[in-house]
Amino acid sequence: MTTESDKQLQCDFRRKSIIGARMAVEAASSLLQQACLRKGKDAAVEFPDTAFYLPLINAFLNRDVKNTNQLPEILAIAKSFISEDNDLNKAFDSGVATLIASEVIEAIKYLDGNPYTDGWQGFIPDSVYRSLGLVLVDGRMPAIAVILGSAPDNKTATNLIRELQSKNILSLLVGKSKEVTFKNQLEEEKVSLGLDSYVVPLGPNTTALIYAANFIARVAVSFGGVKKGDVGGLLKYTKERVQAFVICLGELDPLKVSALSAIMKLGLPVITDQVISHSKDCQEIIKRLLVTEKDYSNMVSRAIQMRGIKIKVDKIDIPVNYSAAFEGERIRKEQMYVEFGAGKSPAFEYVRQKEMDEIKDGKILLIGPDIDQMQEAKAYPLGIIVEVAGKKMESDFEPVLERQIHRFLNYAMGVFHIGQRDMNWIRISKDAQKAGLKIRDFGKILHAKFHNEYGEIVDKVAITLLTTEEQIKQILPEVKDAYNKRDERIGQLKDDTVDKFYSCSLCTSFAPNHICVISPERMGLCGAISWLDAKASFEISPIGGNIPIERKTCLDTTKGVWEGVNEFVFNNSNKTIERLCLYSLMDSPMSACGCFECVAAVMPEANGVIIVNREYDGMTPIGMKFTTLAGTVGGGKQTPGFMGIAKRYIASKRFISAEGGLKRVVWMPKGLKEAIKAQFAERAKEIGIPDFIDKIADETICTEVQELLDFLEKVKHPVLSLEPLL
Ligand code: SF4
Ligand code: ZN
Repeated sequence: MTTESDKQLQCDFRRKSIIGARMAVEAASSLLQQACLRKGKDAAVEFPDTAFYLPLINAFLNRDVKNTNQLPEILAIAKSFISEDNDLNKAFDSGVATLIASEVIEAIKYLDGNPYTDGWQGFIPDSVYRSLGLVLVDGRMPAIAVILGSAPDNKTATNLIRELQSKNILSLLVGKSKEVTFKNQLEEEKVSLGLDSYVVPLGPNTTALIYAANFIARVAVSFGGVKKGDVGGLLKYTKERVQAFVICLGELDPLKVSALSAIMKLGLPVITDQVISHSKDCQEIIKRLLVTEKDYSNMVSRAIQMRGIKIKVDKIDIPVNYSAAFEGERIRKEQMYVEFGAGKSPAFEYVRQKEMDEIKDGKILLIGPDIDQMQEAKAYPLGIIVEVAGKKMESDFEPVLERQIHRFLNYAMGVFHIGQRDMNWIRISKDAQKAGLKIRDFGKILHAKFHNEYGEIVDKVAITLLTTEEQIKQILPEVKDAYNKRDERIGQLKDDTVDKFYSCSLCTSFAPNHICVISPERMGLCGAISWLDAKASFEISPIGGNIPIERKTCLDTTKGVWEGVNEFVFNNSNKTIERLCLYSLMDSPMSACGCFECVAAVMPEANGVIIVNREYDGMTPIGMKFTTLAGTVGGGKQTPGFMGIAKRYIASKRFISAEGGLKRVVWMPKGLKEAIKAQFAERAKEIGIPDFIDKIADETICTEVQELLDFLEKVKHPVLSLEPLL
């Protein structure tokens, strides 16, 4: 439908944006009408596993949409954003109407259960977006690329994806052009898709772009602390902090143009292979955010340049691709050429410090056969010894470095690694073997990566690879002995025995008011950064994310309050947090970004605390699921009674010791109990209740308050004799 005023608009870009927005709102209205006929006027609307309702509408309009009867008003608001004014900003606003309408359209699709099967992701659940948030903030993933439409041919599609993967950029695939989807193009070329491969197909229609947009909206609200309904704050956040861009391929219909104008409103750049004509007065703004690039091999680099994204690439001379995008790649039995460890053959990995003149940098020694002398589908012994020397190296850094072997080997396409020490498991795929990957290449990888990432502390790296059982059996007792000595030494590191704590500000780019304080007995809430990690990373980069904190005077030994820590936190939280009690849940607890592994929450009825891990998606006895709880603690706020924590903190002596410590815990999901079993058992012995784990309820015992109280009585839970919490 073209009105008089459409004709007056000279600018094709603006005209199409407005037409597209009108189409989207009309489509949403008619879908809604049909849905109401089928489902009644007040059907529950929700996306799966989220505490943000319809997240974009929630962030933009501050509306908690739960029901179809709220949608007509939402669509009326969307409509009010569409204006015929001859003004570029108004065109961008129309784009927002398109996004809102898209969210309504997609939510209606979920009324009859999950509409996305067949490899499409659809809505990105909270659990996924939070873990993605973490890799985005720690730099493993420098950016997100949204690909709208499809490439002119399969080869171009594959090349684009390989380039994005090699730069560790996550690609979200949306829509189609000429009835062909990008997903389809990749599938035909046998490119593996999914989060682990950094390629996630969202949906085959343009409206599925909302799943990228409402992902970003949630990041802004939960990591960035942007208030719901604060549109200015939201736009500022996305423009300044969200590393994302859109690659738009193939013909542009009004709906696509309108969606793109919303992306531009968010301050994110668009690269397209099409020419969109626009009038002169739009030139300036459009040029900054929208460019045409006909050479596909240039697209990614132009987008990176426009957005100012910093990319670190690893150039390692091995015959397979190498990047973090391959970290999560699984190698199934049928795809496997050979494997090592996992109880099928003896294997270990070990980093040890040497004196500078004891080793030769770059020396790679293989003792035993390489892969060309190994038979397909068999398990072989493998010992990996990495010797490092450096002026700033300390023996305490050995485990920090050793843990990186997992990541470094996994980055190679066709190599799979899990576990550590003498409990590791490695597989090499048939494809990698065919491409010519050798065991010796593990040496090249480790040499290059330790220099590249840990160059400040290691000056020399030498690698010995053992592939005979005899050699491994000979050296393993010595290695095990070293593991034990190391554990003893680290076990002696206590909050009281060190003179400094460390900060971690890796998440500040997402949660500007949040700062983690890390002590030997309380690791970072993401579970990824221990005190030793932080110390090593400070040595590597004194101006990086981990800074030593001088504690100064202790103001409260029970709650863990120090003058120096308070000052540091105040100065590094945009002056929002004045006081931090490191060992308390109820009084000035640590704030959280969004990456916590678990949430600890007070349960007044039980005079205790429950802990929920991210993986658990069921109900808890306090009537909130993990996603809802996560919403109460994120965004850099201090919320007494609620705290984001790492799994490993639970069995620490300093775990909420101000409130009585571990004895307060009354409920944890079974999976969490299982995950921390060993450390928990040890701590339970220390507090004199060796069977304590059995006194803690889980979802197989109860998820209701009264049932829980009965259970606590029955097992004589120690919480019954603790002082009142409130
Ligand atoms: Fe983020 Fe804290 Fe983990 Fe650092 S320690 S990465 S700030 S959650
Ligand atoms: Zn974080």
